[in-house]
Amino acid sequence: MDLGLTGRWALVCAASKGLGRGCAEALVKEGAHVVITARGAEALEATAQDLRRLNPSVQVVTVVGDITNEAGRAAALQACPQVDILINNAGGPPPGDFRDWDRAAWLAALDANMLTPIELIKATVDAMAARGFGRVINITSGAVKAPIDVLGLSNGARSGLTGFVAGLARQPALAGRNVTLNNLLPGAFDTERLHKTLAAGGAKSGQSSEAFAAKRRAAIPTQRFGTAAEFGAVCAMLCSEQAAYLTGQNILLDGGAYGGVF
Ligand code: NAD
Repeated sequence: MDLGLTGRWALVCAASKGLGRGCAEALVKEGAHVVITARGAEALEATAQDLRRLNPSVQVVTVVGDITNEAGRAAALQACPQVDILINNAGGPPPGDFRDWDRAAWLAALDANMLTPIELIKATVDAMAARGFGRVINITSGAVKAPIDVLGLSNGARSGLTGFVAGLARQPALAGRNVTLNNLLPGAFDTERLHKTLAAGGAKSGQSSEAFAAKRRAAIPTQRFGTAAEFGAVCAMLCSEQAAYLTGQNILLDGGAYGGVF
């Protein structure tokens, strides 16, 4: 199926590795031009080279910067001739106990995982509506649906974004102009971040990270972790022309790990 993405411009935040990179790869394969961002130049340039090899007919622009601050966001927006597709992503907040989190810790989590996507949405959706096409995907977390106690900063900040997006997506000024906003909720995906989490979890429970990972895998109905390529493919589908009637949704990608009916 032709997803109708050829020639569209996508801003993919935090995309040198992991799920953001998976989204950029899928969009590039479908013919979209991309602006990708990350804080480290080396990994970002290496990813850009790989993306250009995947599809030499698209433009791949890199922006080095922290997407959670104003300068990083301004540079990313300026590098994109027009944002038809916005993939909001950033690193997740650290785990811990809420008794140890002060106001600064909360504000950092809110900045990264709630206010940054909202700022980027604010900067782009009205122009999308004026052009009659726009797709916003927020990479959030399965923890929005099934909160994980040690990830309280993430549970809180991402829930704020989820509530905001649910209201905004239903504005006729956007939905009625073919601008959709959806959240993609990853369960356990095989990325650098997951490996760090598994190593920390193993160390805490006195197991090797391999033994700890095996238990995590066994608890997932698919018996494996997801891949960034699978995540990216679903993201590209949600960005397609065909997905115009799908908005304001929280799409859980977790190998069946969430046990509820809805
Ligand atoms: P990752 O660590 O593998 O990759 C993160 C990418 O984001 C890297 O390219 C990094 O350079 C970039 N990045 C991080 N902070 C940035 C910033 N402030 N500005 C610009 N670039 C930045 O992580 P991942 O596994 O791909 O996770 C992506 C998001 O999904 C995170 O918010 C994470 O909490 C969430 N998530 C991941 C999983 C999982 O299993 N991988 C599960 C649930 C939620």
